[in-house]
Amino acid sequence: MPSRPYVLAESNWKAVKDTAFEVAILPWGATEPHNYHLPYATDNYETTALAERAAEIAWKKGAKVVVLPTVPFGVNTGQLNLKLALNMNPSTQLALLTDIASAIAGQGLKKLVILNGHGGNDFKQMIRELQPRIDLFICMVNWWTCVRGTDYFGEPGDHAGEMETSVMIALEPELLRPLSEAGPGKAKKFRVAGLRDGWAWAPRQWSKVTSDTGTGDPRPATAAKGEKFLAAVSEKIGGFLIDLALADPGDMYE
Ligand SMILES: [Zn+2]
Repeated sequence: MPSRPYVLAESNWKAVKDTAFEVAILPWGATEPHNYHLPYATDNYETTALAERAAEIAWKKGAKVVVLPTVPFGVNTGQLNLKLALNMNPSTQLALLTDIASAIAGQGLKKLVILNGHGGNDFKQMIRELQPRIDLFICMVNWWTCVRGTDYFGEPGDHAGEMETSVMIALEPELLRPLSEAGPGKAKKFRVAGLRDGWAWAPRQWSKVTSDTGTGDPRPATAAKGEKFLAAVSEKIGGFLIDLALADPGDMYE
């Protein structure tokens, strides 16, 4: 048995063929700049780590879950003019999701959780479109919404701010530049009130919103805050995976 049989990339046919996996987890990130101090793959490191930690919690309680390889490309249509931000359009994501979901649906798995780590990704409409065509229960989790960020951080920030920076110091400290080199992550707001207040919505043109690509002040970040937050989110998602593994897709309502 591999030491982490719930991580597909580390597993093998001998272990996989005899395991009745119930739930697959597909971590989905992005490749984009994160202020001056965090790496381009920040969303992928975070989301992969959370998927693996949550799966470990569920596996140890007997839930047959498996983490699929992370999709490293997110929707970055608002960042196309930022060097090496690697956009994948929503329609391409749907094609990719359809192929992965179709593959595992024919192999005995019953449920798929997309664990999303990038604000520009939005899987709800894709799931609405795909679900009627496939014999697999599909759901999604935006991991940054699982617990209240303000319980863990002064101001979480939404891109490369205190939350993401704390998480990355905890996970991949050698990949960070010193916080003294980080920009302030100051974000401009929409001039139009409805858009500024959030009840009207349009995607933001990133390079016009922030000068360092960050939105949120990273400077109060610490490893201890990041670890505490990671533990809480992993616990929450781990519990969800256990519940989902036990659930009957034909009997989901009470
Ligand atoms: Zn991010």
